[in-house]
This record gives sequence, structure tokens and C-alpha cells, in this order.
Amino acid sequence: MPEPLSGEDAAQASQGPDPARLAAQGRIRPILIHPHPALRRVCAPVGRLGWDEVSQLAADLLATMYHAGGRGLAAPQIGEGWRIFVMDHGWKEGAPLPRVVMDPEILALGGEVETIEEACLSIPGRPVAVTRPVTISMRCFDLAGAMQVLTLAGIEARIAQHEADHLDGRLILDALEGPEDSGGR
Ligand SMILES: [Zn+2]
Repeated sequence: MPEPLSGEDAAQASQGPDPARLAAQGRIRPILIHPHPALRRVCAPVGRLGWDEVSQLAADLLATMYHAGGRGLAAPQIGEGWRIFVMDHGWKEGAPLPRVVMDPEILALGGEVETIEEACLSIPGRPVAVTRPVTISMRCFDLAGAMQVLTLAGIEARIAQHEADHLDGRLILDALEGPEDSGGR
């Protein structure tokens, strides 16, 4: 079983821990499946959590995402109502780039949009075509507590928007119209 974060890790935290190392310290958590009501709530700012809680949550999200074969995972998907998600668009192609994103705020959306089928670990076997901007600018906090502005494009922009939606209780099913809409609101 993974061990809890050690004191040594906490001491390194002020520089921001390596997300890849964090993933090895995470616990694999059950992923909630739609229509679980926790997937529909608006999450609270991570700023209200202590450091140990935040880093363990980030570690659990990373470990669970990799275990499930996903490219992104948001806290409400493991039953935690906090504004934090993780993403790694390239690990399946051998180019891992894990990101931990906390209290994100989308500052700007690019004008160009694209419609692509998205999968969601909480809605297995039911991809949905979603139209989203191709580029975004997003302000967030990293694991060192530093504010960052990320400019994301393509698959990273898409994953970030999908995961940010989770923090507000939005799911890809909401992109459907008519009788297919089973949003359960
Ligand atoms: Zn999802």
C-alpha cells in the first residue's frame, strides 16, 4: 500500500513537489459513476484546505487517473468537493506531462471552436461530442501555492475545460439535447 506523505516530502513542498513522484504516493480511489449526486455539486475553493490534505488529494487524483487509464480527473469524481483536478495528455504516448490544477479560473477562450467526442471516467462507454474553444487561458494555483497563467491549446485545452466543468457540476451529457439528455438535474 502507498505510504502517506513523509515529513521529507512536506519539507520539499515549498518548491512544489514533482507530480510524477506524488502519483506514486497516491491511493487509488473509487471513481463515482453518473448519476451519482456528488458529480453535480459545485466544489469549494482548495484554498480552504491544509497543505497535507491538498497534496494527498493531488496524489490520489494522479494515482487514480493513471490506474483508470484516463487523461484527466477532477476531485468530485472521487467524491471530494474541492476545486482541484489533474491532467496528463501525453502519458499514453510516452510523453507524460502531469499537471495539478487548483482553483482554476478560465480567463479567456479562443474564438476557434472544434467538436470532438470526449470520454469521461464517470460516464463509461458513452462518449459525447462536445464543441469547445481550441485555445484557452486559465489562471490557477500550482502545488507550490504559486499563481500561474496557463495558455493551453488542442487536447490540453480540451481536457482542462472538461475537468473545470466537473468542478461546477457540469458533465459532457449536458452537451446533448433532447431525449438523450439524462443530466438528472
Ligand atoms: Zn469527466
